[in-house]
Amino acid sequence: MASPAILPLSAATAALPRHKFDVIIIGAGGSGMRASLQLARAGLKVAVLSKVFPTRSHTVAAQGGVGASLGNMSEDNWHFHFYDTIKGSDWLGDQDAIEFMCREAPNVVYELEHFGMPFDRNPDGTIYQRPFGGHTANYGEKPVQRACAAADRTGHAMLHTLYQQNVASRTQFFVEWMALDLIQDADGDVVGVTALEMETGDVHIFEGKTTLLATGGAGRVFAASTNAFINTGDGLGMVARAGMPLQDMEFWQFHPTGVAGAGVLLTEGCRGEGAILRNSEGERFMERYAPTLKDLAPRDFVSRCMDQEIKEGRGCGPNKDYVVLDMSHLGSETILKRLPSVYEIGHNFANVDITKEPIPVVPTIHYQMGGIPTNINGQVVVPKNGDDRSVVGGLYAVGECSCVSVHGANRLGTNSLLDLLVFGRAAANHIISTARSQGKHKPLPADAADYSLGRVAKLDANPGGEYCQDVAGDIRTSMQKHAGVFRTQALLDEGVAQIQALEARVDAIGLKDNSKVFNTARIEALEVANLIEVAKATMVSAAARHESRGAHTVDDYGDTPQHPNGRNDEEWLKHTLWFKDGNRLQYKSVNLQPLTVESVPPKVRTF
Ligand SMILES: Cc1cc2nc3c(=O)[nH]c(=O)nc-3n(C[C@H](O)[C@H](O)[C@H](O)COP(=O)(O)OP(=O)(O)OC[C@H]3O[C@@H](n4cnc5c(N)ncnc54)[C@H](O)[C@@H]3O)c2cc1C
Repeated sequence: MASPAILPLSAATAALPRHKFDVIIIGAGGSGMRASLQLARAGLKVAVLSKVFPTRSHTVAAQGGVGASLGNMSEDNWHFHFYDTIKGSDWLGDQDAIEFMCREAPNVVYELEHFGMPFDRNPDGTIYQRPFGGHTANYGEKPVQRACAAADRTGHAMLHTLYQQNVASRTQFFVEWMALDLIQDADGDVVGVTALEMETGDVHIFEGKTTLLATGGAGRVFAASTNAFINTGDGLGMVARAGMPLQDMEFWQFHPTGVAGAGVLLTEGCRGEGAILRNSEGERFMERYAPTLKDLAPRDFVSRCMDQEIKEGRGCGPNKDYVVLDMSHLGSETILKRLPSVYEIGHNFANVDITKEPIPVVPTIHYQMGGIPTNINGQVVVPKNGDDRSVVGGLYAVGECSCVSVHGANRLGTNSLLDLLVFGRAAANHIISTARSQGKHKPLPADAADYSLGRVAKLDANPGGEYCQDVAGDIRTSMQKHAGVFRTQALLDEGVAQIQALEARVDAIGLKDNSKVFNTARIEALEVANLIEVAKATMVSAAARHESRGAHTVDDYGDTPQHPNGRNDEEWLKHTLWFKDGNRLQYKSVNLQPLTVESVPPKVRTF
C-alpha cells in the first residue's frame, strides 16, 4: 500500500525536541536489557527509557531462580520442562512458544553465566539448582532441581550483570523518563513514542525504526501486591490506547507466600529448600491436596488450598486469616547461605526469626500471565483480515508486559526470568535480521505528539479535579475484592460495573500543583490512566470466561464429571483478546502444535 503524502507537523508536535534511534526500548528490566544488549552488540543505535534507574526495575526483586533443564543435580531434559510448563499453564499456553522457550533455556542461562552472572555453585563447579513448584522429572513423577539460583537474589544478580554488559556495549539509557504513547502512522506502523522527562516535565519525541515494549507487569493494580510501585502496566495502557488488544488478562497469579499484612514476597525457593506450609493445627496440609508434589505444587493450586484451609477455620492468628511457612527445621546454616534475604525479610517485615519460628503468609498478587499479544519473535500481533496473528509493523513486546503465550493460565516459578532472557534475545535477533531492509526512519505523522500533549495539558487544566491517589486506591480495592483468588460470577459482574464507574473518575483527575520539575503527582496521574485500562481488561475478560482454569477460579464453575476442576475445554480452550474501544472481547485459538515434537493433549491436572 502506498503511504499517504507526508504532511507538515502540527505546531505543537513540531515544537518538541526529537531523538532518533534504530531501536527504542521502553523498560530497563531483565527483558529490556537482554534485548538492548543483543542489539547494541550488533552495532544498532539503541535507546532504553526507564522510569527508574535500570537496576531498580522489578527484576531486581526476583529471588528464587531461573528455570533451565541443565540437569546439574538431578536428571532433567527440556522435554520434561516443556511438559511441566504446558500442564502448569492449564493447557492455555501456546505449545510452539513453550517448546522454543524450554529448548533455548540452557543456552540463555550459560550465556548469562558467560556475561559474568554470579550463580551459586555446586562442589564440582556447576550452577546450583533448587527444586521449584510444578517442576518435575519424568512427566510429573517427582520434583526436579531446575531453578538456577544466586542465593535468593537471582534477579538482582541478573539485572546487574545485564546492566554492566549494556554499559560496556554503549547502550544509551534515558533514566527517569516516562513513555506516554505510541506514535503510529497512517499505515498503522509504530514509528516511535512520546515520553516525559521527569526532571523537567517536558515531553519529547523518540523516533525508532523499531519500538520494543518491556515495561513489566501491572501488579500494582491490586491492593496487596508483591510488586514494585512502578509496576503500573504502562505498556499495556499504551497498546490499549493505540487500539490494539490485550490478551488473557483474566489470569493473575497469586503467590502463596506473601508476608501476611506486608505483601512482601518470600520466594518459592523457601519451599524448594524444604520449607513447609502449616495450618493452625500444625498440619502439613498440602500432603492432603497434592500427595506427590505437596508444598511444591504449582502456585494457583497451592494458593487455593491455603484459602480453603482459612475458609474452613484452620487459619492461624487471632483472626484465623493466614497460614504459616515453617523453615525452622532447615537449620540456620542453610537458611543464611541459601535464603539470606528471606531471613532479613522475616526480621524486618514480620518480626520473626525464621531459623526458629514459622512466619505468617497469605496468597498475594504477584504476576500477570496476560499482556500484549506477540509471536515467538516478540512481534506484536493483532487480528486483521481474518488472520488472528497479523504482525503490527515496527512494534515488539517482551517480558511480563507481553503474552507470547508461554504461561497460559498459570506461570510456573522461574519461568519468567527465563521468558525475559529467551524472548528478549529472540526479539532482538529478529530486529537485527530485518534491520537492513528497514532503511530510513518512516516519517512522523503530522499530529505525532498532539494526543500525549493533550493528555498532559488536561491534567494541568483541572486543579480542582479528582486526586489521583484516591482514584487509584479505589481501583485497587475493587480489583482486590472482585478479582481475587476465589471469584464468583456475581462478584465479577459487579466488579465490571465498579471499574466502569471508576473510569469516569480517572477522566476527571487533575493536578493541584502544576510545577514541572520532578512533579511525581503528574507521573502518578499518568500511571493511573494505564491502571484503569488494565483493570477494565481484567474484569471484563474474567467476567466473560465462564469456566475455571489455572489462576482463574470461579466458584460457579466447580468440579463436575463432565468438567473436572471446572475447566471447560469444549467452549473455553481459547485466548481472550480485550479491546479498549467499546470494552469489547474477541477470542483466538490456542496453538496446541509445538515446533518439532508431539503435542501434549489436554488432560485433568492433578499433582
Ligand atoms: C518479588 C518478586 C520475585 C520474583 N521472583 C521471581 C523468580 O525467582 N523467578 C522468576 O522467574 N520470576 C520471578 N518474578 C517475576 C519476574 O521477576 C518478573 O516477571 C520480571 O522480572 C519482569 O521483568 P520485565 O523485564 O518484564 O520488567 P521489569 O523488571 O518490571 O522492568 C520494567 C521496566 O519498565 C520500565 N517502565 C515501565 N513503564 C515505563 C514507562 N512508561 N516509561 C519508561 N519506562 C517504563 C521500568 O522503569 C522498568 O525499567 C518475581 C517477581 C517479583 C515481584
